[in-house]
Amino acid sequence: MNAVRDAESGLAPRRESVARRLASSLPTEALIVEGEALKPYECDGLSAYRATPLLVAIPADEAQVAAVLAVARETATPVVARGSGTGLSGGALPLAEGILLSLARFNRVVEVDALARRARVQPGVTNLRISQHVAPLGLYYAPDPSSQIACSIGGNVAENSGGVHCLKYGLTVHNIAKVRAATIEGDVVDLGSDALDAPGYDLLALATGSEGLLAVTLEVTVKLLAKPELAQVVMASFADVQQAGDAVAAVIGAGIVPAGLEMMDKLATRAVEDFVHAGYDLGAEAILLAESDGTREEVADEIARMEAVMRASGATDIRVSTSELERLKFWSGRKAAFPAVGRISPDYYCIDGSIPRGALAHVLKRTEQMSAKYGLRCANVFHAGDGNLHPLILYDANIPGELERTEAFAAELLELCIEVGGTITGEHGVGIEKINQMCTQFSAPELAQFHAVKAAFDPPGLLNPGKAVPTLHRCAEYGAMRVKAGQLPHPELPRF
Ligand SMILES: Cc1cc2nc3c(=O)[nH]c(=O)nc-3n(C[C@H](O)[C@H](O)[C@H](O)COP(=O)(O)OP(=O)(O)OC[C@H]3O[C@@H](n4cnc5c(N)ncnc54)[C@H](O)[C@@H]3O)c2cc1C
Repeated sequence: MNAVRDAESGLAPRRESVARRLASSLPTEALIVEGEALKPYECDGLSAYRATPLLVAIPADEAQVAAVLAVARETATPVVARGSGTGLSGGALPLAEGILLSLARFNRVVEVDALARRARVQPGVTNLRISQHVAPLGLYYAPDPSSQIACSIGGNVAENSGGVHCLKYGLTVHNIAKVRAATIEGDVVDLGSDALDAPGYDLLALATGSEGLLAVTLEVTVKLLAKPELAQVVMASFADVQQAGDAVAAVIGAGIVPAGLEMMDKLATRAVEDFVHAGYDLGAEAILLAESDGTREEVADEIARMEAVMRASGATDIRVSTSELERLKFWSGRKAAFPAVGRISPDYYCIDGSIPRGALAHVLKRTEQMSAKYGLRCANVFHAGDGNLHPLILYDANIPGELERTEAFAAELLELCIEVGGTITGEHGVGIEKINQMCTQFSAPELAQFHAVKAAFDPPGLLNPGKAVPTLHRCAEYGAMRVKAGQLPHPELPRF
């Protein structure tokens, strides 16, 4: 099969040459060059887009990563780093002419310092394993993407991932102290510091969320927190989606910062209930899940205040978890929402945009209208407290035109996020998925600065090229296309 593909693409000589060079520094089991074994690497969680990599390298130590990067430099071969491949924006989508660099063998918790509340972990360690590893010490790692059972901390750093508890405890960038990374030029750099702050420019923040474009993460020092004495969840039902959106703004407006504040609409709760039986109110048009954590007194007080605000916002029913088991049950539905939606539709497309909380009700209304306009169902499951939307558009890739309609729906929704003062990335990154919308979000001079930053870290432009930051040429084409489609009234309007 490779032979046919290579003959068509003319990639065979390149594959052979790169593989031969790598074979001199890497053991046989660290290289996948041929056939079916390349298949699992063809896509990430955005499975609508696929490509077979030139080859896959799975190094086990820093010397082997250095060898891969050296070969990439010498042969001008692009490199796409990959953690667990759960990304939803195509960040780890391979390039046909590039090396797919899997960090799966970097799977050790190197050191835990309970006193300093820090842990040094390799990038392939899964998010959940960090918390499991330090649980006997009464500690945990706060950011908790719903994919935490599978996603890697290296991927979390590259995407600046969030999760249910990030409303109170911050995103990945707020919960890491250091990153050790390899540049394409062969340098190993330490970004951040063991102290509270690092001198000079904040390169740790710059690298966090850089989607594998600047360097390859080799180790992450994460900050750990003490487990709270108690956590309880309020589950509130609403007869109207917009009312639930307003209730979110009202909770935050009342000065409450819940440990998590999530929303699910009826389509989502129905899908979930059939799947995990979380005990959701199926009569409600939307439900809110709001968590409080702290001491018993703090939790009792905050729960009472949240209940009062939600009732005043029109909640039709309120339940509070009465045990740890019930709290986890309430969350189990939210955490399983994506796979649950996957059971009611052949395909789904998860969008990720952020908006000011006050615009939630308006955007949910417009989403409903778009769903009718494109003739596609849309389930809403999201980090409402952060204003981080995850509309899941349900489609069937086998029906001609449905994927294209889905893409148009997604593009319109992301542009709406910008229109109301939000952003096109909440936590899933830009990857290839939102690269056109970067042209709307940023001006040409801003994008030129992004390219300058990339060039400073990666002069030959070999790390994950074509992702996250569009070329100005691409933006010009996108602008012209939108003018032609009547989406922009005047050719001078786009800022590129
Ligand atoms: C069901 C489901 C639920 C999800 N829920 C959430 C959620 O609640 N919150 C959230 O934020 N995300 C969520 N995601 C998205 C995804 O899990 C995160 O983006 C996650 O951080 C990706 O980690 P990964 O190890 O799978 O990375 P990958 O998908 O392998 O890669 C993601 C990006 O990171 C880069 N990368 C990976 N490792 C390295 C490295 N060592 N050095 C440099 N670059 C690297 C890749 O090049 C790519 O650009 C969800 C995904 C799924 C499928």
